[in-house]
Amino acid sequence: MGEGAAGRDEIGLWKTARPAWGVHIISGVSGYAVLADRLAELVLGGECACCNRPGLGLCQPCAAKLLSSRPWLDYRGGVPLGCASRYAGPWRQALLVAKERHGLGMLRVQGRLLAKALRLVAEQLGAETLAIVPVPTAKARLAKRGIDYPLDLSSRAAGHLRRWGVAARLRPGLRLCRTPADQSELPAAQRAANVRGSMTWRGPPPPEAAVVVDDLVTTGATLAEALRACRAAGVAVRGAACLARPVRG
Ligand SMILES: [Zn+2]
Repeated sequence: MGEGAAGRDEIGLWKTARPAWGVHIISGVSGYAVLADRLAELVLGGECACCNRPGLGLCQPCAAKLLSSRPWLDYRGGVPLGCASRYAGPWRQALLVAKERHGLGMLRVQGRLLAKALRLVAEQLGAETLAIVPVPTAKARLAKRGIDYPLDLSSRAAGHLRRWGVAARLRPGLRLCRTPADQSELPAAQRAANVRGSMTWRGPPPPEAAVVVDDLVTTGATLAEALRACRAAGVAVRGAACLARPVRG
């Protein structure tokens, strides 16, 4: 991640703080993508949010690397949890950039990654229809980020799933009934208590098998609360999925 990249926030799309164009060696990318990147570099001074290669948004090698992740199944809260990628290396970098600064092109790639994890869950459940239920985002965080990250990811993933033959519907029925402290700033032992009782379901339960989606599952405290709130409202929650999950070793 490039330091001093404050320009992205002002214009909402890309970094402008490092106009170091013209001094980088073209390598590893080719054809029109190079031309587009060089033009972007020349005009905008942009760079890849993952590796800082000059260009517009994610560069091709980084996008290919992110998409190379193979999803796997974990189990949390009594349901299969589809994990799209490790919370490490470029996947961690991409998630942090997308959450904090809305990296151009990041959501497109991450939505596809998440869809692969959701497809794995659908296969595990033998489900041909899915209700995709994103965890809710606090208003303050929404205002800071400019996007509802889990909702946006889920929406993009649902689109991919439909193209792949899974009838996925976005069902954002979970709401916050109080705003918990930021989980990432709390020690693991305090996270469950921080989020317990913070969510509720609004509206009728969806008819499809519901799968709860969060961008990152570490201790699983937020996911556990989402599952609790769904079950309390009679939502048939049968799975979960996340974009990133830390793995040991
Ligand atoms: Zn890159």
